[in-house]
Amino acid sequence: MSSSQHDWALTLPPALPPFTEESLVASARRGYRSLRRRWLCLGPECAERDGLRAWCKLPARIQLQDGWCCSPECLQAAVAALAAIELRRIRMAPLPHTHRVPLGLTLLSRGIITAPQLRAALEAQHQAQHEAQGQHQGSRPARIGELLVRDNAASEEEVAAGVALQWARPTFPLDQSQGWRQCRNWVPFPVLEALRMLPLHCVHASAAARRRLYVGFTQSIDFHALSALAQIFECQTESCIITESALNRVFDEMRALSAQAQVQDISFDHIDDAAEVAGITRQYAKLVQARQIRLAALGPFLWVRLRGDRIIHLTFRSASS
Ligand SMILES: [Zn+2]
Repeated sequence: MSSSQHDWALTLPPALPPFTEESLVASARRGYRSLRRRWLCLGPECAERDGLRAWCKLPARIQLQDGWCCSPECLQAAVAALAAIELRRIRMAPLPHTHRVPLGLTLLSRGIITAPQLRAALEAQHQAQHEAQGQHQGSRPARIGELLVRDNAASEEEVAAGVALQWARPTFPLDQSQGWRQCRNWVPFPVLEALRMLPLHCVHASAAARRRLYVGFTQSIDFHALSALAQIFECQTESCIITESALNRVFDEMRALSAQAQVQDISFDHIDDAAEVAGITRQYAKLVQARQIRLAALGPFLWVRLRGDRIIHLTFRSASS
């Protein structure tokens, strides 16, 4: 092992600037500016964003992300600007993390599977990918873990433990937990289904601490989804690994329950136009007397959550995905 591999240990964090009166004034000024920014209307064309009259509109204001909009017109314009950014992000489709030790090798090194079993699963995966290239995209390609379970080379629990090791996250016994029921209306079902994830439970340790939302994944952790959930719910997110069959059982139950859901999920397909998203959002904001709106990109979806006299989820699926 070369010594250069340990060089990072010698890099100390930069020293903090000396504490002076000027730095105190500067930080107070920064604080004031950020406070002012928070109170300004987000409408890019708003005539009253800086004026006193914007303050007079306080009761009619709608919270959007961490800012505010003074009128439905400003809301529409601000949502259009935000949606354009998120839709671009969806179109760019971030690549999945690939820097981990492959699951097959992890299971092999733990002695859970044998080399011939891994080779057979890899060949089956290669073949499935080859076949999928000819077809129209839509169905999810089989993961190596699923193929190993199918071939009886490993149990579901062993695969989940391998994924957990690969991502350095704990496994979560979903079969023994009912916590997901508490969160079952939090994320639109089509999003959960497409991303194969599930909010497991939410913990509020103390008044000072932020809420912590535990989210289960089966084969890989979607960090973009985790940060989107953190943004929507203003909480911290933690990931865990759950088994495929436990997730499928919960999904089946959710499908049965969705008819009596208190939260309305409204899906729109093939929408790539930020102006259209903004127009629809404005209409629903009026319908539910929205006080708070948050939006985020999750996988192929743009998700808008409106909270007013009730909660409505709008999901826009991009045409390009
Ligand atoms: Zn405004």
